[in-house]
Amino acid sequence: TKKDSSAADRRYHALMMFTKVDKSRSLQDKFRVAMLSMIKHGHFLEGEVLVLHFVSDQASQELGEKMLQEFLQDATFKYEVLFHDVVTLTQKLFPIVESMQKHFSAGSGAYYSDAIFFLSVAMHHIMPEGLTHIVQLDLDLKYRTNIRDLFQEFDRFPPGAVIGITREMQPVYRHTFWQYRKENPHTKVGEPPPDGLPGFNSGVMLLDLGAMRTSALYNQLLQANNVAKLADQYRFRGHLGDQDFFTMIGMEHPELFYPLGCGWNRQLCTWWRDHGYGDVFQLYYHCDEPVYIYHGNCNSPIPDD
Ligand code: UDP
Ligand code: MN
Repeated sequence: TKKDSSAADRRYHALMMFTKVDKSRSLQDKFRVAMLSMIKHGHFLEGEVLVLHFVSDQASQELGEKMLQEFLQDATFKYEVLFHDVVTLTQKLFPIVESMQKHFSAGSGAYYSDAIFFLSVAMHHIMPEGLTHIVQLDLDLKYRTNIRDLFQEFDRFPPGAVIGITREMQPVYRHTFWQYRKENPHTKVGEPPPDGLPGFNSGVMLLDLGAMRTSALYNQLLQANNVAKLADQYRFRGHLGDQDFFTMIGMEHPELFYPLGCGWNRQLCTWWRDHGYGDVFQLYYHCDEPVYIYHGNCNSPIPDD
């Protein structure tokens, strides 16, 4: 029997984008894998609560509530579920991230609705002040360990770091920065690990909202003139939203980011191996650590074990 949560409980906040899920059987299947594995391996202490936030439209919320009823049945810990209306969040977000969209969105970048792809970037302005830490998670994940352990990684942030994030495991930013790399032949930008700067993947992110609010540097980088300056300096033109923004500012200010181990976001997509980067692919794809979370990005199948 589950106890009700109380105000004295310690809360662990996790947020997932959850839109158009009613229209996609594939997303529903991914959500099932993610939630069942999270619940199976999840353990929390007495007096702790996992708070699951979903950014959702009406139809997805209705389906999500039904699915969660089933998935959360076997949870051994206390939890809360909160749905946030995607339209309301987009309204708050748009003025903050509008200037980024032309650099990091597909197409013209003028679409109002694209603002939501930058939610993580401005989460510290969107969520209430009392919320100081949150992890943002994709739906195409499979958990192999206790998600509570992921939150312990916040304690390892060095001073000045505001976001914990895993490196990108494909040479996609080797590609995106091609012009800068041509003009700067000895740069680490876009080079593979361990010495290079391969960029970031946004499938698993630790957002220290408190640190994001107090970091003068981070908030300067959100300003339109500074976004434009960096995008120009790095000749950057992307379409992956928040992960492009974090990758670009990470080239200039790596100290803002705590490098989360590759085992926390073991990406499985191999698209770039077969699209011109087969010779260097393994240098990026390689991950030696135990896998805590698989990420089946670009619809990649996730191993069964
Ligand atoms: N997402 C969503 N509705 C969609 C597509 C994506 O809510 O129609 C969310 C979902 O949380 C998903 C995330 O956006 O995990 C990122 O998309 P995806 O994982 O498909 O991108 P990839 O990791 O393959 O680049
Ligand atoms: Mn994903």
